[in-house]
Parts: sequence; C-alpha cells; structure tokens
Amino acid sequence: MSAKDAVFRFAPSPNGELHLGHAYSALVNHELARQTGGRFLLRHEDIDLARCTPAFERQVEDDLAFLGISWDEKPRRQSEHMADYAAALEALAAEELVYPAFMSRGEIRAFVDRYESEEGRSWPRDPDGAPLYPGLDRHATTKERERRMSEGERFAWRLDLERAIERVPALGWDEYGASPLGESGPIVARPLEWGDVVLGRMDVPTSYHLSVVVDDALQGITDVVRGRDLFYATSIHRLLQELLGFSPPRYHHHPLILGEDGRKLSKSARDTSLKSLRESGMTAEDIRRMVGLPGRPGGSLSEEILMSRGSSATG
Ligand code: GLU
Repeated sequence: MSAKDAVFRFAPSPNGELHLGHAYSALVNHELARQTGGRFLLRHEDIDLARCTPAFERQVEDDLAFLGISWDEKPRRQSEHMADYAAALEALAAEELVYPAFMSRGEIRAFVDRYESEEGRSWPRDPDGAPLYPGLDRHATTKERERRMSEGERFAWRLDLERAIERVPALGWDEYGASPLGESGPIVARPLEWGDVVLGRMDVPTSYHLSVVVDDALQGITDVVRGRDLFYATSIHRLLQELLGFSPPRYHHHPLILGEDGRKLSKSARDTSLKSLRESGMTAEDIRRMVGLPGRPGGSLSEEILMSRGSSATG
C-alpha cells in the first residue's frame, strides 16, 4: 500500500468536553495523515443518544479547529448509519453467533454477589472491570427465546463467544504502539477475557464494539491510532472483523495523557477540558506543548510513530 492511501481517524463520543488526552490523539492522527499524504477523518460516535448532544458535537469540531485540525470528509455520525450496524448484526444472527440475553444489569450484579459470597472467590471481570456475563440464557431454546421476546421482556444481543471462537481459531494483530504493559509486535488476541459482549440493544441495533468495527471497515481506515486504554478491546474488534469478513487496519495504541494525580483524564474533569483551557487564554501551541508535542506540527514524536508504521508508510 502506498502512503497516500493511508486513512486515519479520530472518533470521539460527543457526550462531554474533549480533554488533553483527546487533543493528543487527534493531533497525532492528523499529523500522521498530513505527513504521509493520507487522509484524516472525523467520526462522531454518538450511538448513546441519551448522552450525546449536538452541542457537544459542535464543541468537538470547534476544539479541533482551534488546534489547527481539519478533516477531509463530512464527519460520519454513527446515529445516521444504524442500517449498516443492523445489517452486520443480522449477518451474525444468521450464523447464530448472537443470542438474546435477558439478564438485566441488576440481575447480573445479584448473580455475581451471590456467587462470590457462596463460593468465596471472585467472579471473572473483563479488562474494564465489569463482571463477565453469566450466560445462563446462552443455551435457551429458540422457542423459549421467542416466547420471552414476544412477551416484551427486555434483552440485549450478545456475542456467543465460544461459538465465535470456534470459527476463528488463531487470532491476533501486529501492535505498532504498545499495550499498558508494554507488549508490542505480534499480539495474540484474547477475546475470552471479555465474555459475551453486548453487540446490540432493543432500541439501538449496535454497541461500541460493533459500530467501531463496521465503521473502520466501511470508511477504509488503514491505521487505528488510539489510546492504550483501548488496547484490550482490540481482541474483540479483531474477532468481529474475522466474523464479518473485514480486513483489519494497523493498530497503534499510544500512551495516555495522565492528570497531575497520575490518573486517566475524564470528560467530567473540567480543569483539563480543552474548552476551559481555551477560556483561560491558552493557545493551540500551549496545548501542543502540554501534551508533549512540539509547538508546531512535524516534530519528533510523530516521526517516531511514522517510523513504527514500518516501510509501508514510506512507500
Ligand atoms: N469513541 C471511542 C472513545 O471515545 C473511541 C473509539 C476508538 O478510537 O476506537 O473512547
């Protein structure tokens, strides 16, 4: 592939204000695209309609423009592409790789509490710390599922992970950045760590994992450059790509910008929001320096990332 075919993206959820960590990720992606002669796309990941708002979306675009970032196509808004996700979900359903899961969050919590107090050991958690889905209804009969659905019981579509893994025996990716533990190069995917993840809900036919994989494929993203907090999710993304017949992008997980207390920044912490930094009089150059980038584009950090993409970036 020649460098000018490279397609990068920045894909925030417009459910709060961007912070310094987003600024870093967006700047690095933008610079990589500009330096390779590739394209830079902006995607609004707004499937959570209760929390995402047009005002936050405008704020995202404003903050990016302030940083000197421009995007090459009209931003893709996930809420406008539900048919694409529904089609992917249907393809998985046709292969019996998803099932309607009826346990509510409260029921899962009660199940896990009971297990932990009776067994005296902890129930497995996913890399984000959430308990794995107990999967009690994974093997329900079609008749039983149809009855519960027709009675209006609430459910979510979950991936039948065991069945999915049987289809895709060896799974991995080449990591051009690093995991939180410093692993890089060839990585063996470990989707089992996530359990039967949610891929769709009753009202929204998708979830973060499904829509990110569908969009990266439909938008022809060649390079996913994102924070290390999403390193572990890549195992599920790789699995879904194989199941749906998508070719994988290159993955580069970059270090996170941490707060002064050493913790991950959050959208609710106002002090590091780009909006408040701008309001306090900071310039784009100040913000670049705060995240460890040179005041002007083209400095050493993005060169380092460029080199790590290997020879395909320079061809
Ligand atoms: N929308 C995700 C987030 O804001 C990022 C998705 C991705 O880069 O894969 O954390």
